[in-house]
Amino acid sequence: MLIKERILQAKTDIFIEEAKYLYGSRYDYSKAQYTSSNQKLIITCPQHGDFLQSRSNHLQGKEGCKRCYYNKRKINNKGKTYKKKPLEQRFWKHVDKSPHPKGCWLWIGYKTKEGYGQLEDGMATHVSWSIHNGLIPEGLWVLHTCDNPPCVNPSHLWLGTHQDNMDDMISKNRASWQKRKYISIS
Ligand SMILES: [Zn+2]
Ligand SMILES: [Zn+2]
Repeated sequence: MLIKERILQAKTDIFIEEAKYLYGSRYDYSKAQYTSSNQKLIITCPQHGDFLQSRSNHLQGKEGCKRCYYNKRKINNKGKTYKKKPLEQRFWKHVDKSPHPKGCWLWIGYKTKEGYGQLEDGMATHVSWSIHNGLIPEGLWVLHTCDNPPCVNPSHLWLGTHQDNMDDMISKNRASWQKRKYISIS
C-alpha cells in the first residue's frame, strides 16, 4: 500500500471513529472512504440507504440522512398541532360574530341539546364571561339577557344567583311550553 493510501485509510478510520462517537450506531460507514477534504463521503442510513455528506458537516452534526431529518421534522410539526391551543383561541374559533338581529354572537361549536355552547373547559357562556370580565364568583351563574342559548356575546350575559337561574329557566320553559301549546291549538 502506498503511503498516500495509508494516510487516506487512516483518515477514514479516524472519521469513522469520530462519527461513531457522535452518532453511535445510527449510520453505517462501510462505504465511507476519505479521499480529500472537500470530497463527500458515502454514509448509509440503515433505514433510507446511502447519502453523501462532507466529513466536516457530518462531524458537526449537520442534517445527515435527509429522509430521517424530514420525518423528524414532520413528527415535531405534528406534535405542535396536537398541542392544546390556548383557551381564548379555542373559544374564538367557534364564535360567529356576523350581524345578528339581536346582536348575538352565536356559538357554532359543540352544543348541548338545550343549545348551549360547550367547550371541554366548560360552558361557552362561562368561558366568554371569564375572557371578558375575569373569574366568575363562586355560586353565581352566567345568564342571558337575550334568551338565546347559543349566544356568547358578553354584553348579553349577566351573573345571577341560583334563584335567578331557576326563575330564568322557568320563564323560558313556560315560554316554550306556551309556544308549543299555541302551535298545537292553531
Ligand atoms: Zn434515514
Ligand atoms: Zn345574545
